[in-house]
Amino acid sequence: MRACAFCGRELTQEGIERACKGCGAFGGCHLIKCPYCGYEQPQEPQWLKKLVEWARRRRQETPPRCD
Ligand SMILES: [Zn+2]
Repeated sequence: MRACAFCGRELTQEGIERACKGCGAFGGCHLIKCPYCGYEQPQEPQWLKKLVEWARRRRQETPPRCD
């Protein structure tokens, strides 16, 4: 799930596409526009995605604690 960095609301692909139509460069502006607050943010760079995946995998590998 992708969330707006400004207002924190969930960004759906549909909402992003609709919000971005106004800029006339959909597919070329490399920005994600929040349909709720209009905040434009850069798309997640590849390295960040990898980092998040790595962190998630590490968390899953941690054995569950038994108190
Ligand atoms: Zn927003």
